[in-house]
Amino acid sequence: MNALSFGTPAADADVIVIGAGPAGMSAAIDLAAAGRRVTVLDMQPAPGGQIFRALEANSADPETGALLAALGPAYSAGKALIQTFRATPGIDYRPETTVWELRADGTVGWLRGDAAGYLRAPQVVLASGAMERPVPFPGWTLPGVMTAGAVQTLMKAGRLRPEGRIVLAGTGPLIFLLADQLRRLGVKPALIARTDRLRDKIAGLAQLRPAALPAVVKGLDWLARLRLAGIPMRTGITELAAKGTERVEAVSMKVSGQTLDLPCDLLVVHDGIVPSVDLAHCAGLALEWRDAEASWWPRTSPDGGAELVPGPSLTDGPCRIRISGDARRIGGAEAAIAHGRHVAAAILGAAASDTAAAVRQAMAARGFIDAAFPTGLAKPLPADATTVCRCEEITAGTLREQIRAGATEMNQIRGITRCGMGPCQGRNCAVTLARILGAECSAPPVPFHARPPVRPLPLGALAGLTGLDPELAQVVSLEDKPVAAGDDAHE
Ligand SMILES: Cc1cc2nc3c(=O)[nH]c(=O)nc-3n(C[C@H](O)[C@H](O)[C@H](O)COP(=O)(O)OP(=O)(O)OC[C@H]3O[C@@H](n4cnc5c(N)ncnc54)[C@H](O)[C@@H]3O)c2cc1C
Repeated sequence: MNALSFGTPAADADVIVIGAGPAGMSAAIDLAAAGRRVTVLDMQPAPGGQIFRALEANSADPETGALLAALGPAYSAGKALIQTFRATPGIDYRPETTVWELRADGTVGWLRGDAAGYLRAPQVVLASGAMERPVPFPGWTLPGVMTAGAVQTLMKAGRLRPEGRIVLAGTGPLIFLLADQLRRLGVKPALIARTDRLRDKIAGLAQLRPAALPAVVKGLDWLARLRLAGIPMRTGITELAAKGTERVEAVSMKVSGQTLDLPCDLLVVHDGIVPSVDLAHCAGLALEWRDAEASWWPRTSPDGGAELVPGPSLTDGPCRIRISGDARRIGGAEAAIAHGRHVAAAILGAAASDTAAAVRQAMAARGFIDAAFPTGLAKPLPADATTVCRCEEITAGTLREQIRAGATEMNQIRGITRCGMGPCQGRNCAVTLARILGAECSAPPVPFHARPPVRPLPLGALAGLTGLDPELAQVVSLEDKPVAAGDDAHE
């Protein structure tokens, strides 16, 4: 039987960028300006990423003056970057395009509407941003419990204004930012319940560098405005729980050892943000577990060069992926822009000392923020009755039962319980399962095996995949399997 031989598939672009947030846009602009053909894929309908979500549409509408004023100057500041991104020749921007597979050889699986396919490039910049740290606590799946990022999305993209008795709970700058945005919209939260304490701020001072002072001043300004507006604030809260039957009706927590119960229509939680690692994991890139952050982080060089997990890989040859922005290290929009430019310089082989210095400058406040706002809501492990996997409705108790019955790996537990098998593919539950497993077995958490598609892919789209590499086409197409010359034993 003769071996089948296929040509190397042609590249569709010089660089594929995943994500049109600050990091992806700035990388694409510099690469295209240097003459590279750049394809940018993003699941959102317009460029901007998390921070500048729906900025173009909101800026163009004369009715949104109050919303723009509430979202503040940091939101409107994204206009220039988006305009440059739109105006730079050589960028093939594809909105509403979800990436559901990434391979280390530069192959990217995409879905747009009901069409799907593969693209290839010798370089891929993964700039898919961050996600809010998942925080399972009693009642967190009740309607009326949302994350701060989800509320911002409804404000920016849906132009909705939250109402009723609102409690904000958790920690991190985004809680203050959101509270200040609500204040500007004329919405007064009933309480800001913070998990961080004064001693965390004192620990943060040891990390404070002069370049971080503007960020600290901004934070103090938010605090002062919230206090002036008479919004109550408690620190050091623990044991948060949402209560209600059909939806959240009340919230309870411990403050200085006392139980505090409050009626509540909307409970907004936030416990900091962590890199989105689903695509990095899918590509077989090395991740490291950070206990203090209760999450996995990708292992990269400072200019974003990703490492492959040691051992057998699905792809031969070098890793063609660089990770940029919040998908690599949480740093905010300025740091994401600086890092996108740094990655572009590395790909172009240009001198990168200026871009490296800009990244360091933009990341200067990070040490302080990490120490001053440590993981709070996610710190205690969930009680047995608390749901961990929302998609499949699996509780912490069910997971512990399996571990006590002898399961020692996340994959085993996934196979038995279906935890992590739902539409989110473990994005919301994997870290909690890892922590429960770590606590029960004292083993360092090893993530689920990642298999594409990491995002839902309709069967119709799968059937019509374009751009398949020939080896994969062989497996996918049962009817038209390629037949090598001289091979007649196929009936
Ligand atoms: C929920 C949330 C809200 C935030 N709000 C603010 C804020 O108001 N102010 C602030 O200063 N900072 C905010 N941040 C921090 C913010 O992420 C950074 O400041 C900055 O936007 C990071 O830029 P980035 O380009 O690295 O990532 P992002 O801005 O997150 O951009 C990543 C882009 O990748 C796309 N993407 C992700 N996965 C896929 C996929 N599989 N397929 C296709 N596209 C994909 C996303 O649609 C997004 O457009 C927020 C973070 C989060 C997680």
